[in-house]
Amino acid sequence: MTGTAPVPFTADDYKARMDRAARQAADAGLAGLLVAPGPDLVWLTGYAPPAVTERLTLLVLAAGREPVLVVPTLEAPDAEKATGAPALALRDWTDGKDPYALTAALLDAQGRFGVSDNAWALHLLGLQTTLPGTSYVSLTEALPMLRAVKDAAELERLAAAGAAADAAFEEIRNVRFSGRRESEVAADLAALLRRFGHSQVDFTIVASGPNGANPHHEAGDRRIERGDMVVLDFGGLRDGYGSDTSRTVHVGEPTEEERRVHDLVREAQEAGFRAVRPGAACQDVDRAARAVIADAGYGEYFIHRTGHGIGVTTHEPPYMIEGEEQPLVPGMCFSVEPGVYLPGRFGVRIEDIVTVTEDGGRRLNDTERGMVTVD
Ligand code: ZN
Ligand code: ZN
Ligand code: ZN
Repeated sequence: MTGTAPVPFTADDYKARMDRAARQAADAGLAGLLVAPGPDLVWLTGYAPPAVTERLTLLVLAAGREPVLVVPTLEAPDAEKATGAPALALRDWTDGKDPYALTAALLDAQGRFGVSDNAWALHLLGLQTTLPGTSYVSLTEALPMLRAVKDAAELERLAAAGAAADAAFEEIRNVRFSGRRESEVAADLAALLRRFGHSQVDFTIVASGPNGANPHHEAGDRRIERGDMVVLDFGGLRDGYGSDTSRTVHVGEPTEEERRVHDLVREAQEAGFRAVRPGAACQDVDRAARAVIADAGYGEYFIHRTGHGIGVTTHEPPYMIEGEEQPLVPGMCFSVEPGVYLPGRFGVRIEDIVTVTEDGGRRLNDTERGMVTVD
C-alpha cells in the first residue's frame, strides 16, 4: 500500500457544504447553525483550531447570509489559512472583550438554532444569557443526515482508509498471539494503522477468550492463550476519513462450536450486506442480520445495533437499528457488524464498512471473513 495523497478539497467544496447546511437548517425551521470546533467544523470549513480552549470559536451559518467564523484574535492567522476561509467572513475578538456580544449581533434574538453536539456548555450558556429569547437543539438530532451522503472525493478517502485497515489486518494475522498480552497486540495494530497512513488511531480492540463476550472491551493485560477466540476491531482516521473493521481470529484450531458460531456471524454479516440497497430502510439492514442470528437460537446474544455511519468521524448517523426508517441513499457509508457474545466464554464480531451504490452495496473492507487461525 503506497497510497497517493487524495486531491485536496477546495474552497468551493466547503462553500457548497456550508450552503447545503444553511439550506437544510432553514428547511428544518431553524434560524441557523452554530458550529463549534470538531468534526462538523472540519467538514464545513476545513478548519481545526490549534487547540480547543475556553476561548470561543464558532461558525454561524444562516440561509441567505454570508457564513461567519468567530475566532479569538490570536488564532485568526490559523483560521485564515483554512481551505474554506475564502468562503466565509472572519470576526475576531481579543481577550477581555465579550465574544458572546459579538456573536449575538449575528443572530436572530428570538431564533431557534442547531448547535454542534460538542459545543462547550460554557459557550452555549454564554449565548443563552446574552440572548435569552433564543433556543437551541442538537445539530445531529435536527439534521442527522447532513454529512451522511458522501461525494466521490469523500468515498475515495473512505475506501483508502478501509484498504489501509485491511492491510493492517493482513499483517496482524501473521504476528504471534499466544503468550502475548492483549495490549501488546493492540499496540501492534496501532502501529500498523499508522504505517498504512492513518494520522489518528481511534480504537484497537483486542478481546481474547471471555473478554470477547464484552463488545466494549478494549485491550488489557490478559495473556492470550491457545484455544482463544480473539475479537479484533480497529480503526481511525486517514486523510481525515475513518476506517473501522472487525475480524475474529482463533489461536490454533477452533472447536466445532466456535466454528459454528463464527460461520453464523459471517452469514449474518452477509445477509446485512445483501440488504443494502437504495430505498431500503436502515432498520432493514439490522433486521436482515439479526434474523440469521435469531433463527439459529442466538438472538439474545446479539446485544448491539448492526451498524453506524462513518465519515470524518468513526461513529455518526445513520444507525442501522430497529426503528430507524431513514431510507438508504447512494453515497451513504456505514458499518455492518453483527456479533454473538457468549458471557464468560467468547465473542465473535465481523465488521465491514459498506457504501450504498445505485443498485446495492459495495464493501470498503475485503479481508478474509471465514475463520482465520493465528499462532
Ligand atoms: Zn477455542
Ligand atoms: Zn468496529
Ligand atoms: Zn463499528
